[in-house]
Amino acid sequence: MPSSPANTARLPSIDSLLRSPACQPLAERYGRDALLSTLRQLLDDLRESVRSGGLEAIELTPEVLAGRAGERLSLQHRSRVRRVFNLTGTVLHTNLGRALLPEEAIEAVQMAARYPLNLEFDLRSGKRGDRDDLIEGLIRELTGAEAVTVVNNNAAAVLLALNSLGARKEGIISRGELIEIGGAFRIPDIMARAGVKLHEVGTTNRTHAKDYEAAISPRSGLLMRVHTSNYSIQGFTTQVPTAELAQLAHQHGLPLLEDLGSGSLLDLTRWGLPAEPTVRQALADGADIVTFSGDKLLGGPQAGLIVGRKELIARIKKNPLKRALRVDKLTLAALEAVLGLYRDPDRLAERLPSLRLLTRPQTEILAQAERLRPSLAHVLGEGWGVVVLPALGMIGSGSQPVARLPSAALCVRPHVSKRLRGRQLHALEAALRELPIPVLGRIDDDALWLDLRQLDDEVGWLAQLSQLAIGGHAG
Ligand SMILES: *Cc1c(COP(=O)(O)O)cnc(C)c1O
Repeated sequence: MPSSPANTARLPSIDSLLRSPACQPLAERYGRDALLSTLRQLLDDLRESVRSGGLEAIELTPEVLAGRAGERLSLQHRSRVRRVFNLTGTVLHTNLGRALLPEEAIEAVQMAARYPLNLEFDLRSGKRGDRDDLIEGLIRELTGAEAVTVVNNNAAAVLLALNSLGARKEGIISRGELIEIGGAFRIPDIMARAGVKLHEVGTTNRTHAKDYEAAISPRSGLLMRVHTSNYSIQGFTTQVPTAELAQLAHQHGLPLLEDLGSGSLLDLTRWGLPAEPTVRQALADGADIVTFSGDKLLGGPQAGLIVGRKELIARIKKNPLKRALRVDKLTLAALEAVLGLYRDPDRLAERLPSLRLLTRPQTEILAQAERLRPSLAHVLGEGWGVVVLPALGMIGSGSQPVARLPSAALCVRPHVSKRLRGRQLHALEAALRELPIPVLGRIDDDALWLDLRQLDDEVGWLAQLSQLAIGGHAG
């Protein structure tokens, strides 16, 4: 039925559309209610277009209308949580979900999602259990800690530990460690919310043992050390070693709380990565409580681990805030599986995706870039230059901010005058985000860089490349 663009009456009725064979698959897939409201909206929009004279002369048959409704429905029903290709060069990217879980953890999460489990049930005694017990043995083995409790993330771990051990007392901390970790996590603010009175000592670059000592009084509740994970102070600096700080705290009957941030379980230098303090070392040096993230260098799910002395952990677990900050079964299942991999350090870099990606050799990434370059150049066409260049990536998540990971990238530049380059690059960036699996790179130095360190699924990446449609120019 060819329709005249100016004739609203030629649009089919809702009822006839709903009954039309073309709409039946949509009703089955999305349900009648969703189809009905989408068809209503579609017809309203078309009438509006007709009235304003903007309707293009197309055949508004039920088939055409069903096709349009199908497009709308598929967009509406598309998951808002989308997989992406992280080609930004930052491995543990907070905005892109940080660590990727190993297969062992994915299987554990599936099991925990699908079946009832002994989350808080002691299978031996048949009595009520404690969810922290599920990983306590592993944590003791891997860190030397006496006890552990797990919460939602490391920010929660710091909040809970501070509140449990130092509420209404003073927390003594160096001015060089009053850090902000992006977003709304600042040590002074967290201390205030934890009910701990901040007592800062020393200076930004130099803090001595005597500064801490002078601050200790009957009002003191704890000494705190924060690993300055997202910046580094270099030059004329002094920091009291943890062992010395712990000794000082213990002489005065105070606990030393150390927030390690990333908190690696193993010495990363064995894989050629920058040195990061380990949890075991912090505890061996005398820290009474150590907090660290589950999804930074540990390579597991989002979580905050609080480890250390048994009686202090017991106090922390009794805090009602613990109940508000606890982790769910999926997190615990994933965490146990990831910790299990650490029992075999020799195979860890093969099995733990974050470590595997962090340690991928540059030669391998360069070879991959050479392999993919022609395909990208072909899809982009005459208007663009694509070259393979060495690139420098980052660990991310505030870990080792100064360290760079030697990597390789596809570096894309439009063949236009410098003045127009910015707009072209942003159009390309937007087009890459429009792909079925959005591709995220970074713009730098008048070029778009696709750092391939994290491109595992080369086949999937290539398969969707032909759908790239750069708007607003002939590319
Ligand atoms: C990252 C970090 C935090 C916050 O950890 P999340 O797991 O992101 O909540 C706290 N302290 C330090 C030192 C950190 O590096």
